Amino acid sequence: MEFALDIPLVRDILEREYALARDEIRDLGVLGALERSRHRHDARIAAAPDVGTLACCAGCAWCCYFTVDVRAAEVFGILDFVEKSLAPEEKARINAEVRANALVFRKLGELERTTRNVKCPFLKEGRCSIYAARPQSCRNYHATNAAGCQQSYEEPEDLDIDPEFAPGVYQAGGAHVEAFSGAMRDAGYDVRVYELNCALDAALSEPGARERFESRLMPFAGLDGEEVAAEFDDLEP
Ligand code: SF4
Repeated sequence: MEFALDIPLVRDILEREYALARDEIRDLGVLGALERSRHRHDARIAAAPDVGTLACCAGCAWCCYFTVDVRAAEVFGILDFVEKSLAPEEKARINAEVRANALVFRKLGELERTTRNVKCPFLKEGRCSIYAARPQSCRNYHATNAAGCQQSYEEPEDLDIDPEFAPGVYQAGGAHVEAFSGAMRDAGYDVRVYELNCALDAALSEPGARERFESRLMPFAGLDGEEVAAEFDDLEP
């Protein structure tokens, strides 16, 4: 996607979010800081100049069959939300879907993952059952043409389909995530990116995964995360 970089907007978010996240990680712990940060994340996207062009709306869920990237902090935050908010039978359904999806994803290479539709375990009756705690990449989804999302769903192997994106939302959400991740990294936490189902499955099945994460160690013994380069590096304070 080509866009004109909104330097004042991105720089402002990078500076403010990094400072707040750094202080909250120190004072509340990384999961407490992530919870606080979610509200700011949504507010920043809502304030983006082109937010009104988004096609995303309740009940539209084409993108909930696409690969979702997460960081370990988000995984443990989602599990806390599920534990606190969902009924036991719903938790059991989700855990079974996570396990089944992880078995599929673990056998796929990177390209195959992006060209295969797999229903997100949190999608229920067309809605996100963890909406308040959904991953940062879901919050950042910013399509302006739902027909393009539908076409990507119907033709998952065609990577040239462009659902048309809102650049202001992309930059506001991207800068927020980059700043929060930078504060986590500087505090010593794992900020590698994992596929959602594989990471949830590892968090649920590997003893001590959360303790390793909170001790600033690599949390998942059986998973290789991916280092993601900072996109707005040149504008960071
Ligand atoms: S977490 Fe929610 S918003 Fe994200 S893919 Fe799953 S159902 Fe969709």
